[in-house]
Amino acid sequence: MIAMSDRAGAPDSLDLNRVRADFPILRQTVHGKPLCFLDSAASAQKPQVVIDTVSKLYETGYANIHRGIYKLSQDATEAYEGVREQVRDLINAEHAKECIFLRGATEGINLVAQSWGRAFLREGDEIILTEIEHHSNIVPWQMLRDEKGLQIKVAPVGDDGALDMDAFAALLSPRTRLVAMVHVSNAIGTIMPVEKIIELAHAAGAKVLIDGCQAVPHMPVDVRALDADFYVFSGHKIYGPTGIGVLYGKAELLDAMPPWQGGGDMISTVTFEKTTYNELPQKFEAGTPNIAGGIGLGAAIDYVRSIGFEAIAGHETALLDYATEKLRGISQLRIIGTAPEKGAILSFVVDDIHPHDIGTILDREGVAVRTGHHCAQPAMERFGVTATVRASFAIYNDFNDVDRLVAAIRKALEIFE
Ligand SMILES: *Cc1c(COP(=O)(O)O)cnc(C)c1O
Repeated sequence: MIAMSDRAGAPDSLDLNRVRADFPILRQTVHGKPLCFLDSAASAQKPQVVIDTVSKLYETGYANIHRGIYKLSQDATEAYEGVREQVRDLINAEHAKECIFLRGATEGINLVAQSWGRAFLREGDEIILTEIEHHSNIVPWQMLRDEKGLQIKVAPVGDDGALDMDAFAALLSPRTRLVAMVHVSNAIGTIMPVEKIIELAHAAGAKVLIDGCQAVPHMPVDVRALDADFYVFSGHKIYGPTGIGVLYGKAELLDAMPPWQGGGDMISTVTFEKTTYNELPQKFEAGTPNIAGGIGLGAAIDYVRSIGFEAIAGHETALLDYATEKLRGISQLRIIGTAPEKGAILSFVVDDIHPHDIGTILDREGVAVRTGHHCAQPAMERFGVTATVRASFAIYNDFNDVDRLVAAIRKALEIFE
């Protein structure tokens, strides 16, 4: 066993004690045991600075934004729009107006399907997805397919969960209009070779949407270096509030797209005869937005960047490697997803013990994991299971968390023997 202290001088320069102290929820006990939180891929916990930023806004700085002539509203507007610039910088977009604030990644994908897809796709056009997409990146395309008579093609993954590049390339054709793909799989952890995918898709004349929910919190993302046409992520997975997320789109694409929802803020002028629409980004932001969520996201981005992606990736990779090695030592356990490039997500099944039963026993040990299909039923089907247990790691996890996970799995095995 590698004790935490052995790791103190490891190349990852993340000050784990400080980071853990920043997350008040980690001081909780669950069933009398310290919380061991291994479900950050579903939603990450919040550092004190995010909690404080949101409550301070409501205490001293809150007003509706964009239309106010008075100071409170103008300050809130400035804070909210400042976050758009932070997001631009985080993903290296060219313009802040290319970063649309929405409820989350799901809403971003639906926006692209309903606005871009409805306007620019027609019968017989093809969309390529992969076998390991989140339902958020499947269902909006199926809805559009049924409306427009499109074809959806599915790129397969190999037994290790890595994308079969030859099979993907063979699916591309002059009819391919869009490739929509996860950056890092929430279900099994695979990191997709998105740079290469985008290059191949563009050569075939297709646009590319990347679902970056599990990438943005854990690695540097540069939408311009990738040349992504659309890129989505959710605030709550990068230690920010729920109900706020980002759709990045290239300005020329977003400009050409019709508005999606109608309402306040997205208009320029309204009469009963004719309405003219606002410019980007407001064109796609009808109604009062999640003001506190957006400003909280800004605090989360600052927080993550103060730690730095090099330190984050180093730490999380060390956790993944350590956990993978430990879980491989349990003979009854099978890891689902063993691609060479992986995010810090470990999906597994244990003999014929149902994942929910494992999850329940782990919970009694204070270990919070996710069990089920992880909103990726086709991915489960690909690997011949209906559900897995999933442990996912974040900046605040330590090696002791891995040891507790392993000990709790061994306890479950004893109980079910
Ligand atoms: C969480 C997640 C989504 C959905 O994000 P929401 O925040 O629920 O909109 C989509 N794709 C992946 C890969 C995810 O992890």
